[in-house]
Amino acid sequence: MTQPNTARAGALPTLAVAQVRFEHLPDPLGIGVDRPRLSWMISTTAKNWRQAAYELQAATADEQPRGQTGRVESAESVLVPWPFAPLRSRERLVMRVRVWGQDGSTSDWSRPARVEAGLLQPADWTAAFITPDWDEDTSRANPGPLLRREFEVRAGVRQARLYISALGLYEAQLNGAPLGDQVLAPGWTSYHHRLRYQTFDVTSALRMGANALGVMLGDGWYRGRLGFGGGQRNIYGDRLAVLAQLEIEYDDGSTQRVVSEEAWRATAGPILASDIYDGETYDARQERPGWSSANFIEDDWLGVRRVERDPVTLVAPDGPPVRATQLLTPVAITRSPSGCTLVDFGQNLVGVLRLTVSGPAGQTITLRHAEVLENGELCTRPLRHAKATDRYSLRGGGPETWAPRFTFHGFRYVEVDGWPGELKTSDLSAVVLHSDLERAGWFACSDPLVNQLHQNIVWSMRGNFLDVPTDCPQRDERLGWTGDIQVFSPTAAFLYDVAGFLSSWLRDLAAEQAAAGGRVPFFVPNVMPGPSAPAAAWGDAAVIVPWVLYQRYGDRGILETQFESMRAWVDVIAGQAGERHLWESGLQFGDWLDPSAPPESPADARTSPHIVATAYLARSAELVGQAAQVLGREAQAARYLALAAQVRAAFCQAYVTPHGRLMSDAPTAYALALGFDLIDNAGQRQLAGRRLAQLVRAGGYRIRTGFVGTPLMCDALCRAGEIEAAYRLLLQRDCPSWLYPVTMGATSIWERWDSLLPDGSVNPGEMTSFNHYALGAVADWLQRVVGGLAPAAPGYRKLLIEPRPGGGLTSAAARHQTPYGLAACAWRIAAGTITVEIDVPANTSASVRLPGQAGEAFEVGAGHYQWSYPYAHARADPPAVTLDTSLDDLIDNAGAYQRVMAVFAAHNPEFPSRLNGENGLSLRQAAELNPRAEELLARLQTVLKGDGA
Ligand code: BGC
Repeated sequence: MTQPNTARAGALPTLAVAQVRFEHLPDPLGIGVDRPRLSWMISTTAKNWRQAAYELQAATADEQPRGQTGRVESAESVLVPWPFAPLRSRERLVMRVRVWGQDGSTSDWSRPARVEAGLLQPADWTAAFITPDWDEDTSRANPGPLLRREFEVRAGVRQARLYISALGLYEAQLNGAPLGDQVLAPGWTSYHHRLRYQTFDVTSALRMGANALGVMLGDGWYRGRLGFGGGQRNIYGDRLAVLAQLEIEYDDGSTQRVVSEEAWRATAGPILASDIYDGETYDARQERPGWSSANFIEDDWLGVRRVERDPVTLVAPDGPPVRATQLLTPVAITRSPSGCTLVDFGQNLVGVLRLTVSGPAGQTITLRHAEVLENGELCTRPLRHAKATDRYSLRGGGPETWAPRFTFHGFRYVEVDGWPGELKTSDLSAVVLHSDLERAGWFACSDPLVNQLHQNIVWSMRGNFLDVPTDCPQRDERLGWTGDIQVFSPTAAFLYDVAGFLSSWLRDLAAEQAAAGGRVPFFVPNVMPGPSAPAAAWGDAAVIVPWVLYQRYGDRGILETQFESMRAWVDVIAGQAGERHLWESGLQFGDWLDPSAPPESPADARTSPHIVATAYLARSAELVGQAAQVLGREAQAARYLALAAQVRAAFCQAYVTPHGRLMSDAPTAYALALGFDLIDNAGQRQLAGRRLAQLVRAGGYRIRTGFVGTPLMCDALCRAGEIEAAYRLLLQRDCPSWLYPVTMGATSIWERWDSLLPDGSVNPGEMTSFNHYALGAVADWLQRVVGGLAPAAPGYRKLLIEPRPGGGLTSAAARHQTPYGLAACAWRIAAGTITVEIDVPANTSASVRLPGQAGEAFEVGAGHYQWSYPYAHARADPPAVTLDTSLDDLIDNAGAYQRVMAVFAAHNPEFPSRLNGENGLSLRQAAELNPRAEELLARLQTVLKGDGA
């Protein structure tokens, strides 16, 4: 083995403080906490760099000293407590950081990082929520109102801020131009408990003299349709309203406020109707040119009235807003068999269409969106009650550009009707919308199909991180399903910085849960009238998501904030389990969407829902105990760890035989028992691992697990020492498998293993989405195990570098922007040599175990390392196959198995599904179960020639 080398030698090491953050935000404007924790990254070429001390310096916006810590002896650089007097509402500071290394190095001061507090006290709000003073029939969608106010501005403006929120969705305009680049503001929270406001810097948008502020409102989540089977309107209220507080500070120290109140005026705007599910109808002839500019004549405008709402519920954002992040142009415009115009964007995405058109006034263009085609036509059946239809009526008289404001769709295809003249690809683009999270994780390997799978996972995350972590973005659902994010949160935290986004969602979860006596709703925000029944693996999001955030971001504060919610959930489910410590009652989703479940009955899985529920009770109790330990709550730690031990014992007694078999002899049951460490007895554990591998092999390495088992599967196999089995599952292309959708042209992750059936038809189940991230949770294993990059301590303070090549892959690479900086691990095998290259961020270390190297893991400090040494694939040659080989062994010879499957399929298309190892048959015996067995045996003999037959 060659010695590690650092490649970068020579010049003197550089050292700088980069990326100062407040909570999880860079340069936040309008932060909602008065003591934001501080984090910084160190950029250095020095090896093994460790921080010895830091110093923080705060100054006012005009560089007056506001605080200085002096040198603080500490190695901490992530989420360091605020050391100064708390921020006051509206206060602006610049912060500088410098550090000293344990090697004696000293950095310069960092570039100044900016923070500005929002309105931190309810009493800071003098504005009122106002709604147009007219009556509406709110049993249907109504036109979106415009509201406006003119005001005078004097000379000498120092700065101006607009604090704004709405009941409904808003777009704010100042002097004729939209403010900022966020869309679908104020976003979706549990509005009853928490409503976000945004802060805009509007200094440069003001002018001396007459100005105008205008706000356009839409129904959105607030009063639009939400829920299944037609859903409900007006879940949060039936009046749209805006809350706007413009504060102008002058050089002379005086402040002027323009706030929403009775003097504003309102009228109906060009949006005739808008709805998250149904789409938007816009009539450009109804526009009011100049409505958000000064000196506009408000002739027919009406008054407004107040809507009472307690400002206590107003909160500042914890994460980034929804923005347009990409534009895609059509890859094809075609005509369907029935003569419709179809536009294909080549990618299943979430957003809206932007069009540029010229044509006669009043001509209406209709856009219908869908994810797939069926028989060459737009397939809208999977959308159920969502109409996903936008309509635009032209103003006339020149090119006009439009995109809907208050809706979004999940689509790859759009059917366009009513287009004047010939539609060209340059007339349209798809605007990709999602919470504008920072990308943090990348993975690639030598298998292009796996890379496409990973790409699809990223797209499904983008599409379903639209302010709330949703199940799907297209049908009449789009809800913050707890189970989906529970299983996907580790992947999400690798791919993007979701710390703020998910902390905010967890606060909603806790608020809804507290109002429901500790029960966690099926989805957050809850759109159902009453509390949900406790459901395992779904409600456990209350415990697991905060734990994941703690692990990945080192955020102890999230445990502190969520502890009551975590604990309350475990108390509820421990109550369900009762004295016996077995949770065997109530409604359960279980191993949702196990491929053996019939399309119309997705909870009908191979694994008993009681095994799932009790396993999750043990897991959540254990994590609450561990969280209590982290927080120093010893009594609670002891209590929940003891509960976890009792549940594990009960689990083993009830569901595990002395020989390590589970009562549901199905992969998910084993994956839970192994993945959650439920079997204390080493012998039983080993037998269970062996049985899991047998079951996976007997299933021909096709997926036999649903939402609960799938994310645990590859890790459970690795724990059982069956890494090649995990790779075979990963690389399987037959249905059901991760790669099957990829072979069918998928560009996102499907809800069902067979959302599209092998014959190209759409799954007949009434619940068939093509954009659900849950089954994409395997990406976490790809990154950690294939890529070899995992956290060994909270926040990646220590990395676990342990790539495990397999499956015939010749390379893989994972990179992740950790809270400390960029970490990476890449390996490649060529000409009998493996090369492993890693990057360990400053102020961290890594525990490294290199592929094929015996012995203990070793430690390295920060820096870049590379190792090269001779390496042979550990895979044994597959066993030779004859007609007397058992089906069990046949499956282990991937090539022969494929060839045999093909012969069976050609001979008797029904039969290949029975070619599994479960019934103990030999190949000959299996062939003899078929008609014209002689013929079949002869053909098998021929294809097996090279294999020893
Ligand atoms: C959703 C899910 C969810 C499930 C729970 C579905 O309708 O789309 O992904 O977790 O219901 O039962």
